[in-house]
Amino acid sequence: MKYCTKCVIPETAETHEFNEKNVCSVCNQIENKHKIDWNERGKNLDELIAKYKNKYDYDCIIPFSGGKDSTFAVWYLVKKKNLRPLVLRFDHNFLRKNVLTNSERTISKLGVDFINFKPNFSIVKKMMVESLVRRGDFCWHCHVGISAYPMNSAIERKIPLLFYGEPSAEYSSFYKYEDIEELNVEKFNKAVNLGINAEDMLEMLNERYPKDKILKKDIEPYIFPSQRDINKNKIKAVYLGNYIPWDVKKQVKIIKEELGWQGDTVEGIPPEYDYEKIECMMQGVRDYIKFLKRGFGRTAHLTSIDIRNNRLSREKAEELCKTYDGKKPKALELFLKITNMDEEEFYNIVENHVVSPNKFPSKEDLNRNSSNIKPKDLDFWINKFS
Ligand SMILES: [Zn+2]
Repeated sequence: MKYCTKCVIPETAETHEFNEKNVCSVCNQIENKHKIDWNERGKNLDELIAKYKNKYDYDCIIPFSGGKDSTFAVWYLVKKKNLRPLVLRFDHNFLRKNVLTNSERTISKLGVDFINFKPNFSIVKKMMVESLVRRGDFCWHCHVGISAYPMNSAIERKIPLLFYGEPSAEYSSFYKYEDIEELNVEKFNKAVNLGINAEDMLEMLNERYPKDKILKKDIEPYIFPSQRDINKNKIKAVYLGNYIPWDVKKQVKIIKEELGWQGDTVEGIPPEYDYEKIECMMQGVRDYIKFLKRGFGRTAHLTSIDIRNNRLSREKAEELCKTYDGKKPKALELFLKITNMDEEEFYNIVENHVVSPNKFPSKEDLNRNSSNIKPKDLDFWINKFS
């Protein structure tokens, strides 16, 4: 397999393209991040805010998981820009205890209104199976929910401005840093919904589970509004990281100091990255599947960001990837329990989605490579579903 000569991402990464020197497109576009006139972008942000402030029930909606990026976005927009946001959460059903405590602290310290929407878990479970079988990715419900639910709320509540946090140019090449990325139908279809819209999902579920008769109204939180409705309601969903230079490490320091935000242990991630993807109990399983399909995991993603910011050597990154990526996570037991699958079925499904030239590991390798990181809340989750 070919690897980027600068970072540690291989050619199987979605959207990464390699140039003649074998440098990946994300490494190349990050160079442009430093050439952007951030003063100008900051002015653009102030102009945007001026257009919407004090004109609606809330100045904006901030879609919020309680993770590092959305927490920073709420802090920044409230403290630095004096906005009065409605903070909205699409709760994917796997929010961990520490993130719930962090969220409580954040919303009370910042004094904001907060809505948590948790969709029906029996449907979520079925969606997880369906999207794993179809796409080798069980997170369709989450990708789609965190995009569709806030957009629908913006239309219903007539709050047209939405702020997401991290721009996707930080880690993928759907958009370049020079672009101002917005969430709209084009982006949703290109980068979010895995090529499955909610109506398709409904049909697939009713085929797989004919007795359950899932209705269109059951999947409404997952229906992304039409571009016509987005335009008609003048909805503008932007990424804060297009207006201020996104620096995760700096931002984590700020939310830890200002809001008492705390990191957590996540399977497949070195402890020094305790801020990454702490929201979801299923993160270890998600990253494990990615490794089986594409031959790299979350540690490769994180260390590559550090290499691009000149904070880590490539050698050290390779070492960390070897230690942490691709180990069978302890939460796999929980995943199999919820989806009612056995290990063999799980591996067979994932093997169908391997991205060439990556090769699916042998049975011995699968059994040999187990994670020895145990998240302290795992037993709570396993008991919950026993
Ligand atoms: Zn690279």
